[in-house]
Amino acid sequence: PTTRSFQSELCSLFGYPVAENPTQVMIEAAFRDLGLDWRYLTIEVQPNHLENAVRGFRAMGFRGGNCTLPHKVAVIPFLDELTPAARDIGAVNCIMAHENRLIGENTDGKGFLQSVQAIDTPTDKRVTLLGAGGAARAIAVELLRARVGHLTLVNRSVERGQALAEHLNRLFPNRVTLESWNGDYPIPADCQWLINSTSIGLFPNVSERVPVVRDSFRPDLLVCDVIPNPPMTAFLTEATAAGCRTLDGLGMLVNQGVIGIKCWTGRDANPEVMRAALERVFSE
Ligand code: NDP
Repeated sequence: PTTRSFQSELCSLFGYPVAENPTQVMIEAAFRDLGLDWRYLTIEVQPNHLENAVRGFRAMGFRGGNCTLPHKVAVIPFLDELTPAARDIGAVNCIMAHENRLIGENTDGKGFLQSVQAIDTPTDKRVTLLGAGGAARAIAVELLRARVGHLTLVNRSVERGQALAEHLNRLFPNRVTLESWNGDYPIPADCQWLINSTSIGLFPNVSERVPVVRDSFRPDLLVCDVIPNPPMTAFLTEATAAGCRTLDGLGMLVNQGVIGIKCWTGRDANPEVMRAALERVFSE
């Protein structure tokens, strides 16, 4: 006779397409390291099946999960509740099941904040954020909640930049300005953190340059990138050559996983185990 349970606890990632997303590798490495009999499944969900997929998630007792493009906004009507951050960001990338309710959270910005806080304090910092897409929106909200002093948004498309700046100024009055991005952007003399949250540099476009005036990097700047693959982007290589401190996008991804696992299991995962699992994948 055996008293062993053959029923693993389940988490999932919903996306479309999703096959190239390596989140499963780092989350399952953390589950194993914690000695948990939990699985994290990468599941392709077509947009027209999202509602049924969330029904299935409930019916099969999934404990939590992530959702990625194109579901981050579309999933909201199928959930029971949003965290304040998810509400402010207007998108969900993390779902937790709690007493038969599904709660939508957004860990994109929190993952970034946690990794940057390991090197510097956000309070009163003057931050320049390149990009105005989903990642920028999440990072901006969390940085403003963490009391950065001023945020300058810089985006190629003026309409998208304006829409984000207006949204942020409604939530955090007078703390955000928008600058246009024509040609190489000169980093402002009073900027302390410069963050690339555009998709420039993501594999396979690894040699694409973030258009920033090369001579305007200063050694006292902290330069951050959201691109997880490859972690050492051309942008960070330029910043390193200029003597800046840098932060890569792998830390943001790993910390999102740590936050997700805490939400689902209540346990503190080991970020080093997770980062090593991802690094193995990216070096395959
Ligand atoms: P979006 O498509 O929502 O936004 C893309 C942004 O990049 C827009 O601001 C767009 O500007 C800008 N952009 C793209 N190409 C160029 C270019 N050639 N010149 C200037 N601007 C450009 O994407 P997301 O915000 O969702 O994601 C952005 C990146 O963040 C992705 O590469 C993703 O991998 C990464 N990411 C990393 C995470 C992590 O954990 N490390 C988590 C989430 C995302 P415009 O408005 O003008 O088009």
